[in-house]
Amino acid sequence: MNLMTITEPAQKSYSIRADDQTTCLDCHGYGGAWTDVDDFGLVHFKQYCSCPLGQSLKLMYEAEKSKREEQSKQAEIDRLFGVAKIPQLFEKATLADFAKQPQLLAQVERAEKCRQGLFLWGVPGTGKTHLAVAVLSEKLDVGTPGLFIEVPDMLARIRETFNGNGASAEQMIRAVCEVDVLVLDDLGAEKPSEWVKEQLFRIVNTRYSNCRFTVVTTNLTQKELALRIGERTVSRLIGMCDVIQLDGVDRRKTR
Ligand SMILES: [Zn+2]
Repeated sequence: MNLMTITEPAQKSYSIRADDQTTCLDCHGYGGAWTDVDDFGLVHFKQYCSCPLGQSLKLMYEAEKSKREEQSKQAEIDRLFGVAKIPQLFEKATLADFAKQPQLLAQVERAEKCRQGLFLWGVPGTGKTHLAVAVLSEKLDVGTPGLFIEVPDMLARIRETFNGNGASAEQMIRAVCEVDVLVLDDLGAEKPSEWVKEQLFRIVNTRYSNCRFTVVTTNLTQKELALRIGERTVSRLIGMCDVIQLDGVDRRKTR
């Protein structure tokens, strides 16, 4: 089945080139040599020819492979955390819902281009979670692996795994650290403890080091949050995120 995806366009390119009488003498219009099958079952050449056909086949294979890698990453996340983590209320959230706040959308766009995340804060009911889900949904729609978690729920799940059920705590923390886009909803609402502070710092710091996009929502000010989850985690977040206060008036870097 996968052989078809790879060879079909190749034959097309080949026939175009054959008509032009410019068939590559190195690969005779095949585009490469020594076929192999990778872990995803995709047939590919071990060696691609340097001609345009070979290079375009190589790009096609690499694109398909990275798509499969993203799918398997998402499948692993779904396995560890269960599917449909997005609250039902926001299932259909998109950035279009914020069309009346162009300034806010511009801030989001800038953060996506230039920063490693969004720090959304404000009193309950100001649309933080709605906005966070809209940002995540856009990424999920184009196949980028992503995860929405309510922080107290995530920590409870990780703790549960210490009792020996299902995936290991380490696996879950690693997935949270590595997923391309992560929403940490309601940060600061969890019961504070040294263990919680350690886990949160590890997650935030690893994501920072690996340039992963992180969206945080919280009802707390930075000062209040620092008291709950620790100063260093908050400074790391502020360092990597664009800070947006949602209260109807959007301000940057409000402290
Ligand atoms: Zn060639």
